[in-house]
Order: sequence, then C-alpha cells, then structure tokens
Amino acid sequence: MIKNKPVENEHMDLRWVKARADAVLESLGEGLVVVDKEGKILLLNRTAGEMTGWRPDEVTGEKFLEDVLPKENEAGERIQFKKSILQEVLKGKKITINALTPYWMVRRDGTRFPISITVSPVSIDGDVIGAVEVFRDISKEHELETAKNEFISLASHQLRTPLSTVSWYTEMLLAGDVGEITEEQKRYLGEIYVGNNRMINLVNALLNVSRIETSTIFIGNEPVDVAKVIDDVLSELEPLIEEKKHTIDKHYKDKKIPILRADKSIIHIIIQNLILNAVKYTGENGTITIDLESKQGLTLIVKDTGYGIQKNQQNQIFTKLFRADNIQGIVTDGTGLGLYMVKKILEKLGGKIWFESEENKGSTFYVNWPASGMREQRGTTHLISGQS
Ligand code: ADP
Repeated sequence: MIKNKPVENEHMDLRWVKARADAVLESLGEGLVVVDKEGKILLLNRTAGEMTGWRPDEVTGEKFLEDVLPKENEAGERIQFKKSILQEVLKGKKITINALTPYWMVRRDGTRFPISITVSPVSIDGDVIGAVEVFRDISKEHELETAKNEFISLASHQLRTPLSTVSWYTEMLLAGDVGEITEEQKRYLGEIYVGNNRMINLVNALLNVSRIETSTIFIGNEPVDVAKVIDDVLSELEPLIEEKKHTIDKHYKDKKIPILRADKSIIHIIIQNLILNAVKYTGENGTITIDLESKQGLTLIVKDTGYGIQKNQQNQIFTKLFRADNIQGIVTDGTGLGLYMVKKILEKLGGKIWFESEENKGSTFYVNWPASGMREQRGTTHLISGQS
C-alpha cells in the first residue's frame, strides 16, 4: 500500500509509485538487471553500472545482457546464454535460482570479479515475460576463502615432514634399534606413535580437503577394476578386521563387473573410506557386506551391523568435521573429514553417495558412478591415500 500520497489524481499516483521504485533500485547495494524474454536489458541499476563500467542509459532497451555483462566460470570460460541460469529461468524451468558456485562477471574493460547471483522470473498470469538478475561482488569472500585454503594447504604440507620424522624415530626406538627398552618405555613410546599417526591422518585429510576445494587435483581416466580395488583395500585393512573379528561377505565375487573409466587412486580412497568406516563403527564380531551392482552405472554397497547413526544427526554426516554423538566415546580416532571429502570428489567428478542407517542396527552406504565414468581433470596435485 502506498502511504503519504502527495496528490490525489491517478496520474500522480503512478509517478509516485515510479519514483519510489526508482529510489529503491538506486539505493540498492547489489547490482540489479531486468531483462525481457529474449534477454534484452530493460533496466540496469546504478550499482550494476558502477560495478561493470556501463552507464544504464547506454544499455537499457538496446543491448542483450549476455553481450554487456558476460559471465565466466572459474577457469575463464564464457557461460553461453543457452546454458545460463537466466535462460533456465526465462524458459520457466526454474523459479528462483541462487548460484552455489561463484560466477565471474566480466567488466566493460575486460577485467572480472566473482559474484554470487540470484535470478527470478517476472511473470504475468503465470507466463514468464522476463527475469530479474541480482548480483553481489564477492571478491572479499573469495579472497578470504583462497587465503584460508592456501594457509591450510601450506601449514599441513609443512607439518608432514616433522611428523614423519617423529614416526620414524619412534619406530626405531620401539624396534630396539638403539638399545633395549623396558616394557613401560615401550608403552609410552607406543602412545607417542599412535598419537603421532593420528596427527598424520588429520594433516593428510586437511591437505586433501584443501586440494579438493581449490580444485587443483589431478584426476586421471583409466580402466579400473573396482572389484580388485575392494580386494586391495580389504587386504590393507586385514589386521584391523582380524582384531575386531569381523566377517566380510563379498557379494560381488560371483558377478561380472564392468570396468569403470576413472582415476584408480581416487576410487581407492573412496572405497577405503567407506570400508574403514564400516569396520571402525562396528563392534566386535560384526558383519560387513560388500556388493557391486551394475544397473545405471556402477553402485558400490557397503553394509555393516554396527553402531549406526541416530536419525536427528543423519543430515550432518557429509558436513566438514562432523562426528556423530553416539560414537564419540567409543571410537576416538577420526577426523570427520572422510565422508565430506568423498562427497566433494563425487560432486566434482561425477557420482553420488547416500546412506541408510539405524542406530544400534547398522548402516549401508552407497556410491554410484555413472556408466560414463568419472570426469577427467588436469590438476597439478594428487590426493594422499591411506590411513595409518
Ligand atoms: P571419521 O570417521 O574420521 O570421523 P567420516 O567423515 O568418515 O569421519 O565420518 C563422519 C561421521 O559419520 C563419523 O564420525 C561417524 O559418526 C559417522 N559414520 C560414518 N560411517 C559410519 C558407519 N558406517 N556407521 C556409523 N557411523 C558412521
């Protein structure tokens, strides 16, 4: 409702409405562009102009949004109009979209800045007649995120060498290489060794996460025999499986499993995380069932009869550093980074992960890879495999 109308006639009412709308648009701290159904610019507010170097009167009613304000992805590739979120909104496919990964807006002078963007349709009687794009410069957030990732990457990288040194010397002392040690000394050295290994795992996990987040990892594309990778992981984990007296049911053994095109070491890391979790979070004498299904790509199924995950925490399982309450007192070594990392990898390279779980009954984790395999990536670093 319009309050404080200055005059009573209809003509003035409209001018009053327009003046208010203009004032709102001009004072907005975010860039705003309104386009018609073809993507032609109908309105560009002052902030959008200031951010991009265009004068609103030069572009409104004349030019197309994709020509004036082109967008790029992180790698500097142009987002084509056909594939843009604006186009999806104009076609009526989506209602309102907030881009999750940042886009880069290219200024008039060719320089660019990261933006977060929201696109909403303008409709009359259900027909989409245009769209409103609102964008915010997120250079500061982006810089901070990059600095944080670089710091984690550098710190964890620098920590790896001294931690390995501690590990080596403790092993030598424990092995009696420099003289006999008493039982008590052995116990203390054992504690140092285990604690140090936990730190190595944490540092490796942090390094992996920062590498995935900054998308610099190298992802190869080779034929992978997933059943063979499962066998390899199982033999690595054999001491732990024996210690916990688990039974391993290999349901995939009698099946003909198609070869997957993917990066073998990454498939190894994914499978290792899931099987290790099943073993870790199942008490003694449990059963771990592993299966592969080749419908709609390839699906790995890892089922355990362990502690399970309580319902009210299931939605947090894939978040960074999360460890569920029910296992905190039982299994103390864990980083809460494994499943977060697996989900991130699968999101980036193709694939899905999900689970079902009931507390005190057990959990089943599923990973599906599309038949086309994983997407390749020409990165410069590799993920670190292995839990010590
Ligand atoms: P970590 O095992 O190092 O704590 P993850 O990211 O692999 O980290 O797992 C996150 C949390 O999810 C675990 O701490 C645990 O609470 C829960 N979880 C994962 N797998 C299972 C499982 N098979 N059974 C029960 N809880 C699980």
